[in-house]
Amino acid sequence: MNYEHIFNQSRESKLSGRYITLNDIESILLNNNLISKLTKIGESVLKKPIYKYEIGTGQIKIFMWSQMHGNESTTTKALFDLINFLCTQSTNSINIRNHFSFCFIPMLNPDGALLYTRENANGVDLNRDAQNLSQPESKIVRAIFNDFKPDFCYNLHDQRTIYSVGFSNKPATVSFLAPSYNVDRDVNKTRGIAMNVIVSMNNVLQKFIPGQVARFDDSFNINCIGDTFQSLNVATILFEAGHFQNDYDREITRKFIFIALVSSLYYIYENDVVADKYPFYLQIPQNKVAFYDIIYKNVKINYDGIEIITNFAIQYKEELVEGKLIFKAYFSEIGNLEGFFGHFEYDANYKLYSDNDKNIPEIEKPANFYLDKHLNIVNGLVIE
Ligand SMILES: [Zn+2]
Repeated sequence: MNYEHIFNQSRESKLSGRYITLNDIESILLNNNLISKLTKIGESVLKKPIYKYEIGTGQIKIFMWSQMHGNESTTTKALFDLINFLCTQSTNSINIRNHFSFCFIPMLNPDGALLYTRENANGVDLNRDAQNLSQPESKIVRAIFNDFKPDFCYNLHDQRTIYSVGFSNKPATVSFLAPSYNVDRDVNKTRGIAMNVIVSMNNVLQKFIPGQVARFDDSFNINCIGDTFQSLNVATILFEAGHFQNDYDREITRKFIFIALVSSLYYIYENDVVADKYPFYLQIPQNKVAFYDIIYKNVKINYDGIEIITNFAIQYKEELVEGKLIFKAYFSEIGNLEGFFGHFEYDANYKLYSDNDKNIPEIEKPANFYLDKHLNIVNGLVIE
């Protein structure tokens, strides 16, 4: 199967970048067709509609929800690419539609999406509300789960740029988890089946992004939705879209999420999925924290007449300014930084640090400075 070709044909061109709101997806969703069904299933805290999108007539039921965290939009883009794939009249798409029934919630947290926050409009992390069900969005996703009775749940998220594959210098471009269903993190049939599907996706992704797939920590937390659904005996998989080299818009990672989704469907379509791949699942390295966005090495800093040579790390914060998302660079760590990598690294070669303030880097300060007076660094990067 030529996944790249299918992706290029399916990519939803109306969606791009990191800031994806209800407005962006609504116009696509409302452009309905005969083979799918769109239903408003409730409202967010700020009374914005939450939709489910159904397609397929098959026996195996798959439930996917995206943007439960409002600022995590990569999987939403990939989900719309998947919808485009499912809507074609190719034999591939028809086979998948006949084999599966899909229920998608493309944007569970439209208020957080608009505000570009993880939490909903009440400041609640919906992925810690699976037991309390204190929020309208949490009640909606649970009601659909109860009603649809899925065989598989795909819990779709983004992760930050800090994650690495093990302690290697490779970013965790895609991470997976078969969430635990109990404190002992036992593997039962349900969880084992989720692990098998993850192993199958990892096998495909390794051909595209060797060494850039990781496995999330499986500590049990029943307040998380994946742990709850797994404990209710539905094979549940957490997807985390992460950083790919220079891809801050996550347009490349989007493709790998699409490939993971489509390949998982083919795996389930072609195999009687049983729970026998646990050792292979464990071979996927764990997610670790080993990255900063930018690292400057060997910088000379003058602290009250004492010169030291040190390194510092800079991290982007995503900020909404007048409806546009900007990546603003701040000092994040100063010191040895051993074992850490920068997505961008610069050897200052003992040049002297200065800025328009106190001439020392400080954590949480915007990363605008000079090296040896003449090299101008604006928002973390050298201006030539
Ligand atoms: Zn998330």
